[in-house]
Amino acid sequence: MTHNVIDLGSDTDLAKAVAGLMPGLWRDLADLVRIPSVFPSPDVAEARQAIVKLFQEAHITEAGELSLTHQGKPLTPLVYADKAGPVNSPTVLLYAHYDVQPANKAGWHVTEPFAPKEVLCGTDKRLYGRGAADDKSGVMLHLAVARAFGGKLPVHLKLMLEGEEENGTGLLEDYLIAHPDDQRFKADLIIVADTGNVALARPTVTTTLRGVVTVDVTVHTLRKPVHSGMYGGPVPDAFTCLVRMLSTLHDANGDVAVKGLAVDDLPWPAVDETRLHEEAAMLDGVRFVGTGTLAQRLYGKASVNVVGLDAGLPQPNKSANVLRDKASARISMRTAPTQDPAAAQRALIDHLKAHVPWGVQVETTPGITAYGFSANPNGTYFPLVEQALKAAYPGSVKVERAGQGGSIPLVHAFQVVNPNADIVLWGCEEPKCGIHGPDESVSHAELQAMATAEVLLLDRIGKAGHHNGGAM
Ligand SMILES: [Zn+2]
Repeated sequence: MTHNVIDLGSDTDLAKAVAGLMPGLWRDLADLVRIPSVFPSPDVAEARQAIVKLFQEAHITEAGELSLTHQGKPLTPLVYADKAGPVNSPTVLLYAHYDVQPANKAGWHVTEPFAPKEVLCGTDKRLYGRGAADDKSGVMLHLAVARAFGGKLPVHLKLMLEGEEENGTGLLEDYLIAHPDDQRFKADLIIVADTGNVALARPTVTTTLRGVVTVDVTVHTLRKPVHSGMYGGPVPDAFTCLVRMLSTLHDANGDVAVKGLAVDDLPWPAVDETRLHEEAAMLDGVRFVGTGTLAQRLYGKASVNVVGLDAGLPQPNKSANVLRDKASARISMRTAPTQDPAAAQRALIDHLKAHVPWGVQVETTPGITAYGFSANPNGTYFPLVEQALKAAYPGSVKVERAGQGGSIPLVHAFQVVNPNADIVLWGCEEPKCGIHGPDESVSHAELQAMATAEVLLLDRIGKAGHHNGGAM
């Protein structure tokens, strides 16, 4: 197995090459942050054109816009490139997204969302601005690869940058699942650069994601609202009935009480209680709910929360003495990585139907279902991934295999298209980045280290030369 031979000389050269690329990458990242590419604004196209140009100038002359349609609906064009490597070299598909979360000025203190600003936080040089981390830093990692190899790539490269990820349209996932034979998206290894280390400078691969399902539930008790003085007592109001049903979703410990759900247990790194309490903005005295380790509760078990409510009720200070006739809630369930989401959704609906009080009428409407993800721990490329990360973070003892409580439905679509491929999730989005919130930022050191890791990984894969049989 030649891939276990570490070529230190070449590692050092490549790491130096990336260090030399940093001023340009940092400047280009700032320029991209200046483009407010919030889907569906026209700025998304401006960002796309700028990125195509950057890759073309970085010797990926094949880079261009790829327009797809699914069931008559046009997708926001991808930045796409397919560039052959040495004969018989494995195919690596690099993914990131160039659209960003919406942002207004509220809550931004360091700078305005689309006015990138460099700030030194202790020894940590950071770039502030919307999308600096999520996920224009991911675009930069792939650009670093293109620049570092100067057109002589060690692998067959496919580049795929999405323009409507944050919007959650799901069109790209739907397209891929409907076209599992589309050769343009086949690869031996897929690198999704849209996650991050568990902490700054602690090299991490994200190996699990939770899935997500939603169900809307509506309770009807009366043909119309009626006076609480005349009828209150024997006559149930809809909101109280809904609350009773919702309260059955957890047991007294706060564990999800819906039966038949998957529970996964993997050696995720331990989650620090104090830090989680702080990061989740929990108030003093508020305790964690559920049982099991915090990591398992965050990454390996289902969670259920009410995320929407309509009971037709006024503000408390404007209320009248009325029994309401109907009330609805949207229930969102995050699922264990290996959970079949349709089964979880059915279990949730069955639970609600089994807990209807006092003969009231209940309607349930299934909403979204999205798969989680659990990486193959024995994947062909994982030893190389770990070597690359260790070399990029000198002094780090181990590479963490982290879970993520959120969902990236596209990863499941990649698995459908590439059942034998390895999928690596990593990137620059460590907790200090504050993605999706105000004052989003990215660390210069982290961008450099992760770019180095990606360059070293592709170098190693080129030298190892083995395939997963997924690509042509
Ligand atoms: Zn993202």
